[in-house]
Amino acid sequence: AVPPDAPWLVGLNPEQHQAVTTTEGPVLVLSGAGTGKTKVLTARLAHILASRRAQPWQCLAVTFTNKAAREMRDRVAGLIGPVAEGVWLGTFHALCVRILRRHAELLGLKSNFTILDADDQVRLLKQVMEAEHIDAKRWPAQALMGTIQRWKDQGRLPDKLTAADTTELAGGRAQELYAQYQQRLLTLNACDFGDLLLHCLTLFLDHADVLAHYQAQFRYILVDEYQDTNVAQYLWLRLLAQSHKNICCVGDDDQSIYSWRGAEVGNILRFERDFPGAKVVKLESNYRSTPHILAAASGLIANNEGRLGKTLRPGLSHDAAAIEKVRVRGVWDGPEEARVVVDEIETLQRRGESLATMAILVRAGFQTREFEERLITTGVPYRVIGGPRFYERQEIRDAMAYLRLINSPDDGLAFERIVNLPKRGLGDAALQVVHNAARARGLSLFEAARLVVETDEMKPKPRKALAGFCDDMLRWRERMATLSHGELAQVVLDESGYTTMWQNDKSPEAPGRLENLKELVRALADFDSLQGFLEHVALVMENDERSDVDKVTIMTLHGAKGLEFDSVFLPGWEEGVFPHQRAMDEGGNPGLEEERRLAYVGLTRARRRVLVTFAANRRIYNQWQAALPSRFLEELPDSHVERQAERGLYAGGASSAAWNSGDVGGGWRKPEAQGTSWQVASRESAGDFAVGDRVFHQKFGNGFVVAVDGDKLEVDFDKAGLKKVLGSFVETQ
Ligand code: ATP
Ligand code: MG
Repeated sequence: AVPPDAPWLVGLNPEQHQAVTTTEGPVLVLSGAGTGKTKVLTARLAHILASRRAQPWQCLAVTFTNKAAREMRDRVAGLIGPVAEGVWLGTFHALCVRILRRHAELLGLKSNFTILDADDQVRLLKQVMEAEHIDAKRWPAQALMGTIQRWKDQGRLPDKLTAADTTELAGGRAQELYAQYQQRLLTLNACDFGDLLLHCLTLFLDHADVLAHYQAQFRYILVDEYQDTNVAQYLWLRLLAQSHKNICCVGDDDQSIYSWRGAEVGNILRFERDFPGAKVVKLESNYRSTPHILAAASGLIANNEGRLGKTLRPGLSHDAAAIEKVRVRGVWDGPEEARVVVDEIETLQRRGESLATMAILVRAGFQTREFEERLITTGVPYRVIGGPRFYERQEIRDAMAYLRLINSPDDGLAFERIVNLPKRGLGDAALQVVHNAARARGLSLFEAARLVVETDEMKPKPRKALAGFCDDMLRWRERMATLSHGELAQVVLDESGYTTMWQNDKSPEAPGRLENLKELVRALADFDSLQGFLEHVALVMENDERSDVDKVTIMTLHGAKGLEFDSVFLPGWEEGVFPHQRAMDEGGNPGLEEERRLAYVGLTRARRRVLVTFAANRRIYNQWQAALPSRFLEELPDSHVERQAERGLYAGGASSAAWNSGDVGGGWRKPEAQGTSWQVASRESAGDFAVGDRVFHQKFGNGFVVAVDGDKLEVDFDKAGLKKVLGSFVETQ
C-alpha cells in the first residue's frame, strides 16, 4: 500500500488527489490550463506502479510530443526509481511503431519496414497517378495526398469511403488511387505516418487474438492532451481500453489547436458516451500563472462560442504589489519589435533571471528570423525548438544557393544543390558529365556546365535543360545591375520555378515554407548588397549550438503546448499574422476560434509575466504596409492589462484612449511617412545629433544613437553593436 505522504501525493488538492487515486474505471479530467493535468497524470503513473497495481509494461501512457514523454519518464523515475523505464510511454506514433514491428507480417510488411517522409509519400502517389494516366495538372498528387492523410486521421481505409467522398477528386478515381497507393507501400515494405495508426487499427480489428493480448496487457492507460487526438487515435484508445476500462484522459477543450491535423475535440464528448459511468474530475485551481495573466487569458477565451465552459481561479497566493499586469506594447516595425523584446530579455537577465525561463512564442515559423538576428547581434544565446533555425531551413538554404551562385559562379556546392531543383530532368549521368569536364579542365561546375552544353557530351534533353539553367543564371547575374537585391531574389525564385514548386506542394509544411521565402526577400532589403547579406548569413550560421549555456527559447505557439516559462513574449499580434490570414480565410469562424485558443495557449504558458507586442508597420517585400493590431488585443480585459504605444501609433478602436495615454518614453522615434526615412521627434539635442537618431556609418552601417558627447557619439549599430564613433563620420537618415 502507498503511504498517504508518498511524495507524489503530497501537495495535491482534493480533486487532483481523487484523479490520481481513482485508478479503477474510466476517468476524464477536463480542466483549464495550468491546473495540474500533466502533474496528475505523472502522479497517477507513479501511484499505480508504487502500489503494485501493475507492472511497468502493463501501463500505457500517451503524450503529445517525444519531449513530453521524456519528461514524464524522468519525473516518474524521480518519484519511484528506475522501474519507470519499463512503461509503454510515448507518442501515438512511437507506440504504434513499437506494436507494428512485432506484428508486421500480419499486415504484409516485414518488421524492418521503413517510414516514408512527406516528400517520398507524394513522389509515390505521383507514380501511381502517372501510371493511371491521371492529368497531373488538373489533379496534383499533393492535393490528393492531403485528402488521403485526412482519411487516415479519420481511420478510414479505401473500402470505408463512399462515392460522396470521392466524386470531386482525381476525376472520381480517388478511392482506387488510394487503394493502389496502399498496395505500393506494401510492396516497398513501407508505411507513411498515417499508416502507423491505421495499420495498428487493422491489426486489432482483423486479429482478435492480438487485440486481446494487448487489452490484457495494458491494465492502465493514461492520455495527456486528449483534446488533440484525432478519430483514428480515439478508436485505437477505445479498442485497447475495452477490457479493463482503466483509462484516464486529461485535456482542455480551450487548448484544442490541431483541428487542421484532424484532431476532433468531439472526442471529449464521446468519451462519456463510450465509457458510461466515467468519473469526470474538474480541476479549477491554476497553479502556474499570476491572477492577471489568468484573468487576461480567461477574458480572451470567453470570446469563443464553442466551449464546454469551466472555472479557472488562481491556486497560488501572490503578493498583489509584486505582480505585473500583462503588458501590451505597440512598436513601429519588426526590427523595433525585436529590439524591444531582446532589450527586455537582457534586462531580466541582468536582474539575475535565467534565459531558460524565457520564451518567445511566435504564430508562424517565419517570424523567428527577426528575433534570431537581434539575439545574435546582442550575443544572447537562444535555441529554436521544433525546427531548424531560420537560415538552416531547407527552403532558405535552397534560395540562398541560388543567390550564392549568382553572386559567385565558382560556388560548386550551391550549383549542385540547385541545378536540378526544381526538377529539370538532370539525372546523375548528366551531372557526372559536368563533374568530369570540371575536373579535366580545372573549371568551376558552372563554367563546365556552360562548356558542356556547347558539346554533344550529353543527351539532347538534359543538355537543353542545363543550357536553359545556364542562360537563366547569366540573365539573373546581368539583372543584378538594374534590380535591387530584394527584387532580384524575388525574380529568381519566381523565374526558376522554385516558388511554384512549393505552391504546388499541398503538404501542411508548404505554406510555412512560402512564408519563410517571403521573409528572406524581406530580410535582403536590410542589406546594402547581396555580398553583404551572404556574409551576414555565413556569420550567423557560425554561431554554433552549445548545449551547456543558458538559452532563450524561440518556438511556435503550437509547439509550446503543455510547457511553462516565467516570462513569455508574444510578438506579432496583428491582423493577418495573428489571427493568421490563412486560418481565417480557410476556416471561417471556427478557424478564428482556433486562433483564439492558440492565443489562450500562449498566454497561459507564462508563470510571472507576459509581454505582447504588435508592430504598426510590416515590410512586405520592399514595401511598407500598415498593420492593424490584432482583434485579440481588444479582447484582453483592461483591468489586467497595461497598454503602451507611441502616441498616435494606435488610433481608433474601443480602447484607443487607454493605448495613447500610455508611457511613450523618451526614446521613441516617429517616422516621417511610410518609407525608410526617419525623422527625429522633438527631443533634447546636442549638436547635430540626438539620442535616438537613426544614423548611418560607412564602416558599421545603420544604428541608433544612444549617447552624445560633443562630436563623439555612442551608437548601437544593428550589426556591429555598441561603438564609439565621430559625429563627422556619420550621416543622419
Ligand atoms: P496545461 O493545460 O498547460 O498542459 P496542466 O493542466 O497540464 O497545464 P501542469 O503543467 O500539470 O498543468 O501544472 C502546471 C504547474 O502547476 C506546474 O508547475 C505544476 O508543478 C504546478 N502544480 C500543479 N498542481 C499543483 C499543486 N497542487 N500544488 C502546487 N503546484 C502545482
Ligand atoms: Mg499539461
